[in-house]
Amino acid sequence: MTTVDEHLAAVLDQITPVREVTLPLAQAYGLVLTQDVTSPVDLPRFANSAMDGYAVRAADVAGASPESPKLVPVAGDIPAGDGEGHTLGEGMTWRIMTGAPMPEGADAIVKVEDTDGHSHEVLISASVEPGTHVRRAGEDVRAGERILSAGSRIGPAQVAVLASAGVAEVTVRDAVRVVVLSTGDELVPVGEPVGPGQIHDSNGPMLAALVRAAGHYTTHVGHLPDDEKSIKKELDHHLTSADLVITSGGVSKGAYDAVKAVLTGAGSMEFTEVDMQPGKPQGFGLLGRRKVPVFTLPGNPVSVLVSFEVFVRPALSRLSEQRYEQVTVPAVVLSGWTSPAGRQQYHRVRLLRDVSGAYAAEPAGGPGSHLVAGLAVADGLAIVPAEESEVLTGSQVQVLPLRPLWEIEAELAQESATDQDGAQGAGSEAGRPRGRHRGAS
Ligand code: AMP
Ligand code: MG
Repeated sequence: MTTVDEHLAAVLDQITPVREVTLPLAQAYGLVLTQDVTSPVDLPRFANSAMDGYAVRAADVAGASPESPKLVPVAGDIPAGDGEGHTLGEGMTWRIMTGAPMPEGADAIVKVEDTDGHSHEVLISASVEPGTHVRRAGEDVRAGERILSAGSRIGPAQVAVLASAGVAEVTVRDAVRVVVLSTGDELVPVGEPVGPGQIHDSNGPMLAALVRAAGHYTTHVGHLPDDEKSIKKELDHHLTSADLVITSGGVSKGAYDAVKAVLTGAGSMEFTEVDMQPGKPQGFGLLGRRKVPVFTLPGNPVSVLVSFEVFVRPALSRLSEQRYEQVTVPAVVLSGWTSPAGRQQYHRVRLLRDVSGAYAAEPAGGPGSHLVAGLAVADGLAIVPAEESEVLTGSQVQVLPLRPLWEIEAELAQESATDQDGAQGAGSEAGRPRGRHRGAS
């Protein structure tokens, strides 16, 4: 058998980033720059006021104070966006708004709060140092200076600096086009009635959501019967345009496991038994003329989610050239469980707080890979190394969060506040309990 790390390394080894494209800035959020970006302009572009107030020569208002204010004639108003290019006459002032260009000759701003605010003659009751409340041209960045490096991911603040510099297009790793295909004769899309022996396809919608949660997009989410011809035809079709294909189902040892039958021997496809639980039957390879990476995940929903977290998410990061590191949090086990010998276990747990404020973990739902309601109340996956066959109460495990930690933290904070009010709800077994069962108190 292959270890999780070996399989992940084998997968990542075969993956190269998607194409470089030049995109309008509005479409670049979340993508990674492939080239450094320099600013063609100074930022700020021109000296401007940091305050609503009066533009002055500092020397003209020297000594002004509340006790001895200075009366200064106002030349006019300079609103933001005024492009006239005003000049400040000796002993004069301009009323000026935040962001408006400094008039020639002015070297400081007296903020409106230090004046009587009048528009013809203003009483100024504070002196200022030269430079006060002036935003200097180029103080943020100089024309020709690098504002972002190749390899940076474009987040909201990066969008802001690019837009400020007038950079309307950027060269990035393109968005990864992900296709999700569920396979199984028993599957019916949600929204349609199920007949005897049928079930709703949950892997398809879940994988689409996982792809989005990882910051990527699906271009197609569909389902197929256990029919080799249909599977081959549909795959061939998507291999012409997809950057990543994720299938689920049909790769076990059953008589109808058509995905495995179709893909055995195709491209670099390999079907591997990975010593993990759940998620043992894994398939991966590059298929078609474009050598599209294809994951064939097992069918059980919990196996799908675990496989996504462990193998697909890192692969998506490699495709999009994003940095990724699996981050786990330590937690104390509230009630122990067993783990199959020789397999790395990913055990669904809920996170709580123990008395010392550290995370505590307790099993969520049962161990079956079909238990989606149990999965839905899990906060994370406790990773139990292959050589351990028992997880003892009170021992420490590493937990891979399934939701952003801040969301889990917020929930725990809210629950602890509710507990302190003495208003702890009875909770329910299946749904997310209102007050979580607290094992350590
Ligand atoms: P398989 O790997 O195809 O043998 O499927 C294993 C189990 O997962 C079976 O109980 C299937 O019915 C179930 N399963 C497979 N695909 C899906 C899906 N897309 N949604 C929900 N359950 C599925
Ligand atoms: Mg099946």
